[in-house]
Amino acid sequence: MNETLSLGRIAGIRIGVNWTVIVIFSLILLGLSTVQFPALFPELDVATAWIAGTIAAIAFFASLLVHELAHAVVARRHGVEVDGIVLWLFGGVAKLRGDAPSPRADLHIAGVGPLVSLGLGVGFGVLAWALVGLGVRGIAVGVLGWLALINVVLAVFNLIPAAPLDGGRILRALLWQVRGERTSAAVTAAKAGRVFGVGLIGLGLAQVVFVPGPGGLWLVLIGWFVTAAAGAEEQQARIQQALAGLRIRDLMTPDPVTVHPRVTVADLLDGYVLRSRFSSFPVVDEFERPVGLITLNRIRALAPEQRATTPVEDIACPADELALAGPDEPLTSVLPRMGACEDGRVVVVHDGRVVGIVSPTDVSRMLQVADLWDRHPEPPHSASDPRQQR
Ligand SMILES: [Zn+2]
Repeated sequence: MNETLSLGRIAGIRIGVNWTVIVIFSLILLGLSTVQFPALFPELDVATAWIAGTIAAIAFFASLLVHELAHAVVARRHGVEVDGIVLWLFGGVAKLRGDAPSPRADLHIAGVGPLVSLGLGVGFGVLAWALVGLGVRGIAVGVLGWLALINVVLAVFNLIPAAPLDGGRILRALLWQVRGERTSAAVTAAKAGRVFGVGLIGLGLAQVVFVPGPGGLWLVLIGWFVTAAAGAEEQQARIQQALAGLRIRDLMTPDPVTVHPRVTVADLLDGYVLRSRFSSFPVVDEFERPVGLITLNRIRALAPEQRATTPVEDIACPADELALAGPDEPLTSVLPRMGACEDGRVVVVHDGRVVGIVSPTDVSRMLQVADLWDRHPEPPHSASDPRQQR
């Protein structure tokens, strides 16, 4: 889910909204201002109802943000990089780069979200209760009461043990702890997610038939999203399973052709690109240390008349965006980093020097080999695992 608009950073974590957030914000605002608040407080005038609805809707999204921030902060504390938080149609997503290092960390990162929502719910509830104690009646109590309720509902819904909900991640962490293995735990949590998603769709369709109003369609939409996301997680877990045990050196292309940052794009084309079979070239300094990566896609994006005057370093993927890995790193821990530069390549570095490169094609070829191996009717036990060979 990509951000359409950036809201800046909180605690160093990038916050953004996707345009679809307008849909859910409008639905909540409309529901509160024109249906729920007027029904609870019949004496309420139209303007006050809209103001109260706006405050409640904004506070709801702030609550969502706090929930996601909790995930992000705890993830970072466990050494998992955070790309940022995006609010969208179905709430919020904290985008984590990579997996939790242990079942315990997985549990903490997932569990803190519902815990924070529950805390917010109780907090708003106590405030509402205190206002009532002070003799305040009316819309202020209504807003606080609704915020208390919606946060508790959010906590409970998120605890349903089905991926991609927090409860699914908690289930994954617990199974991981019990089985001592993450992949099958993730597959089980994802399967639970698919069952739950299909159930939601069924429930929604039944509601569409028997209950008038848009509520059923909304359930169908959420169910569809849960099913799709759970399917994607299951696939990802299976990929990780297929690639488990592989190290970067097993699939990297060794000794790639490297290029100096001051070489012009024209010279790169004549001297390197047309004379080699590579489509990407690590940019290195005089000590062979990586300072960037240049790919055919990036060369293509440059106007041909500028090639003679533009040095490679100007259009290369810069060093701080470069995905680096050691030759002995497990492939599965490097995969999440492969999206860093848009071309999805990883530069392999040993003792500070560039020794290889891994492209998405290398990974997909390895996946096909792994798949062939898994479907082999009689694995030749005497032979070494082909996945271990280059
Ligand atoms: Zn959550």
